[in-house]
Amino acid sequence: MSVSNVSGCGKLYVVATPIGNLADMTFRAVEVLKKVDLVAAEDTRHVKMLLQHYGITNKLVSLHQHNEDKAALVLLEKLREGQSIALVSDAGTPLLSDPGMPLVKMVKEAGLDVVPIPGACALITALSAAGLPVTQFSFEGFLPRTSSARKAFFSERLQAKKTWIFYESCHRILATLQDMAEILPLDRQIVIARELTKLHETIVKTSLGDALLLVTQNDNMRKGEFVVIVDGAIEDKKEQIVTPEQEKILTILLRECSIKTAVALAVEITGVRKKLLYQAALQFEKEKEID
Ligand code: SAM
Repeated sequence: MSVSNVSGCGKLYVVATPIGNLADMTFRAVEVLKKVDLVAAEDTRHVKMLLQHYGITNKLVSLHQHNEDKAALVLLEKLREGQSIALVSDAGTPLLSDPGMPLVKMVKEAGLDVVPIPGACALITALSAAGLPVTQFSFEGFLPRTSSARKAFFSERLQAKKTWIFYESCHRILATLQDMAEILPLDRQIVIARELTKLHETIVKTSLGDALLLVTQNDNMRKGEFVVIVDGAIEDKKEQIVTPEQEKILTILLRECSIKTAVALAVEITGVRKKLLYQAALQFEKEKEID
C-alpha cells in the first residue's frame, strides 16, 4: 500500500468504521489505520477504543463539526509535506451526516489523492435488509428538529415516487412518526431499522399506522439509533386526486362542450389521466341531474 503519490504528497484515506458491531471493520481499514502517519477523528477518545481493539497505536488528531474548516487547513498542509492521513468518524462512513466534507473538498481542490476505504454505513445497511425498492432512493440525513418544519418536509415528499430514507435519534423517533402520520397516508409502507448490527437489532417493515402504534406502545422501540425508510408514493394513488383547480377547469369546459370533448381538452390542459377526468366529469353530470 503506497501512502504517498508521485509528487511526494501524502494521501487522504476516508475510512469507514463499524456502526455497532466491531467485527464489521474491514481488513483494509485496519491496514490503512496502522500505516498512515495520522488519524483524524471526530471524537479521539471514541476512536482510541476502536484502535485499541485492533492493536493499532497511531497518532490521533481531532476533526469535528466545530473545528473542521481550521483543522482541514492544517491537515492539508501535512498532506503537502508528505504525511498520509486517515479520516474516520465515530461510526460508519465519514461525511454521511458526519464531519469531513470540508477536508475532502479542500484536498481534492488541491489536486491531492483522496482514497475511499469502504465499509459500514447505516443507511446502506438498512436499505439492504428493508425489502423496499432501492433502484432509486433519496437520502435525507437528519430531519428538521421542529414539528412544523418536519411536517413541511413530509408534505414536500408526499408524492415522491422514490424510496426515501432518513436518520433519527431515540429522542425524536416518536414525535417524528406522529408528524409523519399527520401528513402521509397511514397505509404507506415504512421500515424502522433500529440498533443495526448490535445485540438488539430490530428491522420492522409495516404500515405507517402500525409503526406509530408499535413505537408508542413498546418502550424498547424508542431506544437506540434509528434509520427510517419510507416507500415512495404509488403513481395511481397520486393520480387519484383531481385538484380543485383541475376540477374547475373541467366544469367550465363541461358547460360549453360534450363530456368527450371537455375531458379531452382537460387532459390536454391539466395532464391528468383521461380515466380520472372522465370519472370526475360523470360525477359532475350526475350531481347536476340531482340538483
Ligand atoms: N456516518 C454514519 C453512517 O455512515 O451511517 C452516520 C452518522 S450519524 C451522526 C448517526 C446516525 O446514523 C444515528 O443517529 C442513526 O440515525 C444512524 N445510525 C448510526 N448507527 C446506527 C445503527 N447501528 N443502527 C441504526 N441507525 C444507526
